Amino acid sequence: MAIWNLGSINIDHVYRMDKLPRPGETLAADSYSIGLGGKGANQSIAAAQAGAPTHHLGAMGQGDDWVIDRLQARGVDTTYILRLADQVTGHALILLDGSAENSIIIHPGANRALALSALENAMGAIRPGDILLLQNETSLQAEAARIARLAGARVIYSAAPFDLDALQAVMPEVSILAMNEGEAQQLFAAIREPLPVEGLLITRGAEGAEYRDLKTGQSWHQPAFPVTPVDTTGAGDTFAGYFAAALDRGDGIPEALRLASGAAALKVTRQGAGDAIPALSEVTDFLASTEA
Ligand code: ATP
Repeated sequence: MAIWNLGSINIDHVYRMDKLPRPGETLAADSYSIGLGGKGANQSIAAAQAGAPTHHLGAMGQGDDWVIDRLQARGVDTTYILRLADQVTGHALILLDGSAENSIIIHPGANRALALSALENAMGAIRPGDILLLQNETSLQAEAARIARLAGARVIYSAAPFDLDALQAVMPEVSILAMNEGEAQQLFAAIREPLPVEGLLITRGAEGAEYRDLKTGQSWHQPAFPVTPVDTTGAGDTFAGYFAAALDRGDGIPEALRLASGAAALKVTRQGAGDAIPALSEVTDFLASTEA
């Protein structure tokens, strides 16, 4: 089976400085680096690195060919990524101070400009048993979910960044709803009735992760692996992509949680987002070493 991911592609411009600028203030950065990010690109890389055939759906501007090269180098099929002439590639300006506090500006650009006809064409090959990943950084989330469900695929939706209206629009088509703790709190503060999804995946940073099967009432808790965190950016995306890939290959929930938790733990020991997502062999070595 395959994983399809309608997801954002962002170029991360990272500026490091002693302190963040206040309104009206101009500061020189101590360093600058550029990397691949966006929740969508991160989840595609994680799923592909975990071994799932992964097709990224979505859009970029023209140019920025290194982004496509890098996704391909990490195993992601980029055939269906559209290059829009009138849009720039989504990007983030990330300011980091000495204590890892940040200020971030995201310009969605092409991520929010995909046309429905193009999405329908691209999703023509989705099959029963495939998995569609979605996050809240693109247009057409509910439409993509509907196409996937009609085709007999499952839908895993990461409600991030959290937006109740976007979530309610897509939720009837969602199989598994993935959230971090803050997103889950926002959801449960707003909605009390039973959720119309099969399962809930809730990640809690260093506290681990939980999966609740809403049909049977069964739940599983996976503790986080103890590591020294360097950069937690993309931990949730690494978890979601690895978890989806594990389900795609037929793993049970406990195995999927463990694999995803190992991958996310390794990710937080590394600086960066998409570029820092570990390969499956690194994750299996790490898991084996924690059993030793
Ligand atoms: P982000 O937005 O930074 O991508 P998130 O808020 O979506 O992350 P978290 O719940 O913070 O997601 O983390 C996802 C998973 O990553 C956790 O369930 C855990 O398995 C792993 N993880 C995160 N932080 C740590 C940590 N400090 N040590 C070990 N594992 C961690």
